[in-house]
Amino acid sequence: MSKYVDVHTHLTDTSFDADRDAVIEECARLGLEAVVVNGTEPQSNRMILELAEQYPHIQPALGIYPVEAVHELLPVDYPRPTCVFDVAAEIEFIEAQAAAKTIVAVGECGLDGYCLEEQTYVAQEKVLEALVDIGIRYDIPVILHTRKRERRCLEMMAHLGVQKADFHCYGGRTKLAIAAAEKHGWCFSIPSNVQRNEAHQKLLKSLPPECILTETDAPYLAPERGTRNWPGTVIQTVELLASLRGWHHAQAADQVWQNYSRVFVPQG
Ligand SMILES: [Zn+2]
Repeated sequence: MSKYVDVHTHLTDTSFDADRDAVIEECARLGLEAVVVNGTEPQSNRMILELAEQYPHIQPALGIYPVEAVHELLPVDYPRPTCVFDVAAEIEFIEAQAAAKTIVAVGECGLDGYCLEEQTYVAQEKVLEALVDIGIRYDIPVILHTRKRERRCLEMMAHLGVQKADFHCYGGRTKLAIAAAEKHGWCFSIPSNVQRNEAHQKLLKSLPPECILTETDAPYLAPERGTRNWPGTVIQTVELLASLRGWHHAQAADQVWQNYSRVFVPQG
């Protein structure tokens, strides 16, 4: 049986409150041997550590979402709910988890130019740098959100000398992604809405094979618009990867699993 991986999912989301355990158990049944649940702020970060203690296939990634990272700078009428917390203390908490080897990655973290105004960019980069620094020092990957700041984020990673990175749901230019993958060996995780997204299909078809990962960003980015996504949909992405490249399904699954193992599983 093939092994599958979802490197970016939010199973802590309230939309999983009613059936979270059943969803997690179904993942194991389908061969998802690694479900990397990504945190965005203190509450989800702690919940993920609890889930990982319960389930061996749940792999924790702790982070600070760009919007949460600059919550103090947001206008009072900011349309989305955000948490109020001590960002510096949370960075320390994430570092302590990396030191204790309880996490497989740092993330979600990154830069956002879609929801956030330019006056937050410097503050966003400061938090990102601190989180990336943890990834470098403990030799674990960073999982990056880059919405409308793709070029800048690629630049920053090169400048900081990052070796292990996964660009999640990358929406920048394909050429830029391929060049970065070829030069730095960074990975790009393709979300399950690839079924209805030509730009993501282009990435799936043209990235170096060793730089492709699968993700869901569940509950978001489902193959079918308006439905709740879940980690099991990575299997459809693997099937699409196989058909776009003329591979057998098992070959596509193995390639993605090997990529995950190389970047996320400590060697030696
Ligand atoms: Zn996400």
